[in-house]
Amino acid sequence: MLLPEPKSESETRTRPIVVQKYGGSSVADVEKLGSVADRVVATRRAGYDVVVVVSAMGKTTDALLELAHQACRASASGGTPGAIEPPRRELDMLVSTGERVAMALLSIAIQARGLSAISFTGSQCGIITNDRHFDARIIEVRPHRIEDELARGMVVIVAGYQGMSYKREITTLGRGGSDTTAVALAAALQAERCEIYSDVDGVYSADPRAVPDAHHLPELDYATLQHMAESGAKVLCAQAVEWARRAGVAVYARSSFDPVGGPARETLVRKLGPGEEPRARAVTADRAVVLARFREDAGGRALPAAIEKIARAGLRVVHLRQAGDAVELVLSASAAPDWSETRAELGKLCRELALEEGLGLVSVVGGGMADGPEPLRRLRRALGHAAVEPRLCLASALCASAVVDAARLVEAQRALHAEFVG
Ligand code: ADP
Ligand code: ASP
Ligand code: MG
Repeated sequence: MLLPEPKSESETRTRPIVVQKYGGSSVADVEKLGSVADRVVATRRAGYDVVVVVSAMGKTTDALLELAHQACRASASGGTPGAIEPPRRELDMLVSTGERVAMALLSIAIQARGLSAISFTGSQCGIITNDRHFDARIIEVRPHRIEDELARGMVVIVAGYQGMSYKREITTLGRGGSDTTAVALAAALQAERCEIYSDVDGVYSADPRAVPDAHHLPELDYATLQHMAESGAKVLCAQAVEWARRAGVAVYARSSFDPVGGPARETLVRKLGPGEEPRARAVTADRAVVLARFREDAGGRALPAAIEKIARAGLRVVHLRQAGDAVELVLSASAAPDWSETRAELGKLCRELALEEGLGLVSVVGGGMADGPEPLRRLRRALGHAAVEPRLCLASALCASAVVDAARLVEAQRALHAEFVG
């Protein structure tokens, strides 16, 4: 006798799936975790299957990284020669514990409210990455365990920011990477939507902490938000936006401090409709920028070798210019845990290397930024009125930027917001 074909997950599923991600400030203490648990319970009772992705509590990741640096410094002062940058594999073992604490506590809080819940690490729930420690990329998601637990009626809690490499090593996804976990899971589970909860009720036209006049953006297209994230707006991580764009995941950015079920503002991040142009304009800032100038050698080997070291250290090349043998690089170090060794290696590799640190990058993101010389002229004029001296100005189709003294970044953001966004 032939047995009936087992029904696939999608055929048996009756409830739509929502993925909710709660950032560090939303789970900073047990009371806040309790509010998150209340929101999760309310969502489950409203008829959804809920997958919750959590970040480490408060500033736990920063505190763990500081411990790693202290351990390194202790070895250096003891006179033992050796690494001065903490090994990235061990950093991953260390920082991935932060999310593990939060996931277990949230699962306990949800179960205390009468719902069944189960927590998983990134590796347990099938987040497979490449083998780049500390800024790994997700290459595959195999969410079978999550699907099984949802089918058994469980709320599933996932530790964000982490996965397992194909070599079965624990990896992390770069700072702010819990956003990426959430979007990648939403895509793999074909969730109805992905909700990203933080301490702001969505995306603004500038960081509201730096620019009091920043206004709320109810809707935003993927490309604009990806540019904003890549140029320093940490409200959502750039890799997450890229995943959302590729998989067409509808992302809602919300505040976890708004009342559960009450009227609240949010930002919907979505694809542009046919013929629709990006309309949003926003100002962003990156606080850890380095300007590097050096002379290429006759064999043309220094620049490629420098770029490789820069990438390995987790620095991002924002701009590269080569004129004759003169090389100029604008680098973002905001995702690099420590690049002291790399700095020393670059000094040996690059002739006449001049490194300028303590810089920031202020950008205006939005369409039309490379339409003739006018946007850059306005950018220079606005910075000049605010007594901010740009070291360098850059323009591309979706973005115009200036490298400025990091200490003047707030003034620079306010000046550009007043000029371009109003
Ligand atoms: P979480 O810990 O929840 O992931 P983050 O600190 O990573 O939250 O992101 C939220 C913060 O992003 C806000 O507190 C805000 O200061 C900052 N931010 C920067 N740029 C923007 C922007 N354009 N819109 C909203 N928030 C922004
Ligand atoms: N806890 C990690 C960080 O602080 C990941 C995250 O918050 O998304 O970067
Ligand atoms: Mg974040």
